[in-house]
Amino acid sequence: MMEAVRLTASFKLKGLIPSSLFLTYKLILQELLDYAHAKEITSFNRLKSDKYRDLRARYPNLPSHYIYTACQMACAVYRSFRKLRRRKEAGVDKPIFKKDVIMLDDHVFSIDLETWEASIATENGRIKFKLLHGTYHEKFREMRIGQAWLIKKNNEYYLNAVFRRDVEPRAFNGKTLAVDVNENNVAFGTEEEIVVRKTGERAIRVAYFLKRRKLQSKPRLNEKPIMAKYRGREERRISTIYHRLANEVVKMAEKRGCSAIILENLKNIRKRSERPRELNGRMNRWGFRKLQTTIEYKAKLAGLNVIYVKAEGTSSLCPRCRVRLSPSGYRLMKCPKCGLDEDRDVIAVRNLLQMHVPSSTVQGEGPPMKKEEGRPSVTEVTLGQNGSA
Ligand SMILES: [Zn+2]
Repeated sequence: MMEAVRLTASFKLKGLIPSSLFLTYKLILQELLDYAHAKEITSFNRLKSDKYRDLRARYPNLPSHYIYTACQMACAVYRSFRKLRRRKEAGVDKPIFKKDVIMLDDHVFSIDLETWEASIATENGRIKFKLLHGTYHEKFREMRIGQAWLIKKNNEYYLNAVFRRDVEPRAFNGKTLAVDVNENNVAFGTEEEIVVRKTGERAIRVAYFLKRRKLQSKPRLNEKPIMAKYRGREERRISTIYHRLANEVVKMAEKRGCSAIILENLKNIRKRSERPRELNGRMNRWGFRKLQTTIEYKAKLAGLNVIYVKAEGTSSLCPRCRVRLSPSGYRLMKCPKCGLDEDRDVIAVRNLLQMHVPSSTVQGEGPPMKKEEGRPSVTEVTLGQNGSA
């Protein structure tokens, strides 16, 4: 079965986009939202057939595909508004979209990775932009481009483009590699070889956490931009570490002839965090998940299967006899029955390796992707603006 791997790359654009484009789009979007809300329309086709003709006549200079994408966006925004309203979390009594965001499809934009240029259709014809980007993503060359979002933020323009590639995963051969993600290290390996890599992530997180707290303690006019800058830096530093690690994981899987990579279901991981409470929360979960999705898309692009398993007792049971282990010195665990004495993260990998049952039932276990018969499953990852891949 083919797997669709999707990657979102964020480019900064050099140049000016006529503000009328954002203005017009916002007007159209709000009109569509009001209409969808009044008539309770959540279907793109219904909204389009009701409103397209009228909008086309009133905005004759606007490339027509903007009306399509506005219908798509309006449906998405309205659907999420309904969801929030059902949970009584909407906060407002009608859906409103205030951001400067324009959805683009491949009729109104194109990207040329050879010349680093983007071309965007506007009411006054096509405009070319230079793309500014930190690192070049070689893999995008082999991918198809789908839709994109044009974003205006602090008078700067960004293009978030979704690249897509369909890959055929290799056949299961029984050989797997397992990855155990911890807060400050990652253990991974196969039956033959297991390594534990320190990520140094905790030190980075603590350093930035202290920086932010120091900033908050001194009142100033507007600390938000500085906070955002720190957060961006922190995320990029950690991202770089994750990419390197993920590359190493995939390389080992290929070297050892594995057909699949086993990852742990995230629900378990969360409970294992030992971080101080202030540091716990969103960022922490972001980290674990981010590392997993990085490994996942790199593995899939390499044709490896990715399996999520519900891992209970991975660090507390003996991988040989399933007996409860007892602590035996710093990070070591010992089995009272067979005498196994090993690093607890290595034990976790051994347990994960055993948890893989090469049947189709295991595959659907993971939380992130719903697999449907006959439809490709999808991996979605967002790369940072200076994403290092
Ligand atoms: Zn044992």
